[in-house]
Amino acid sequence: MSKQFRGGDRALSLLSSAGQLDWLDPFTYQRREGKISQELGKLGKTQQHLNAQRQQYLRTPDCRWQFLLVAFGFTTAAPGFRCGHCDNCRDRRR
Ligand SMILES: [Zn+2]
Repeated sequence: MSKQFRGGDRALSLLSSAGQLDWLDPFTYQRREGKISQELGKLGKTQQHLNAQRQQYLRTPDCRWQFLLVAFGFTTAAPGFRCGHCDNCRDRRR
């Protein structure tokens, strides 16, 4: 099937990485029905999650860089981190 048009392999790998194909073995796959709407549902949740994170970022009393470190997964470096330059770090010095 992938030889019928250019980019077919790429499209397949994209679909596969998007979780829309179930690979039964390296030569056999099934298209998942209804998967796209599921993915869109997830996307909505992710957008909500981002909005919530943005609100937390605006309201955090801690260093804003600390928040970003946690958000980007640097959870070991983040605790107690203070950049000393953001508004929250400067407010605490007073
Ligand atoms: Zn700071």
